[in-house]
Amino acid sequence: MSQGTSVDNGGLLRRYGLQVTAQRLAVLRAVSDRPHSTADDICTVVRAEIGAVSRQAVYDALAALTDKGLLRRIQPARSSARYEDRVADNHHHLICRTCSRMVDVDCAVGDTPCLTAADDSGYEIDEAEVIFWGRCPECVAATSVSSDGRKRTRSVRHQLRSTASGPKQPRSRETSHQKETAREEKDRRV
Ligand SMILES: [Zn+2]
Ligand SMILES: [Zn+2]
Repeated sequence: MSQGTSVDNGGLLRRYGLQVTAQRLAVLRAVSDRPHSTADDICTVVRAEIGAVSRQAVYDALAALTDKGLLRRIQPARSSARYEDRVADNHHHLICRTCSRMVDVDCAVGDTPCLTAADDSGYEIDEAEVIFWGRCPECVAATSVSSDGRKRTRSVRHQLRSTASGPKQPRSRETSHQKETAREEKDRRV
């Protein structure tokens, strides 16, 4: 990593009223190199870079950076929170149900009826948080090569922060390469 980057990030931390620490710098760098990482992923990267650092220290740094608005935290239903440093806009996300890869999608423009609450219940709405769920091109390709040719339905779901109910995921998860999902299911049972 170049000297310039850490100097800039140091200035950034100070501008946001945060003390400059090695952990915060490393966390900031890890997130900006790997947007949409989970705290665990960031922990691994930070440890590889600055050596022994507690998981709690990384979590604390993420919390401080998110609190101050340097990082954005995205919380998809039933999966770990992800972090990114693209904070200046209200962009949305696409998530692959199979491999959990998350990518950015620019804020919807034009005719977007789902983003306009039918009944705002008197709330002053300033944000609609949208997560599109589906499968990434790689996972679609992997399935179409190996599967029995059965058609799968794509599913797109809107998650609006202003509504209380989270999206329910379909129970049909029978493909063999869904290691992530299998692990999640096991974790939940423990
Ligand atoms: Zn995928
Ligand atoms: Zn993003």
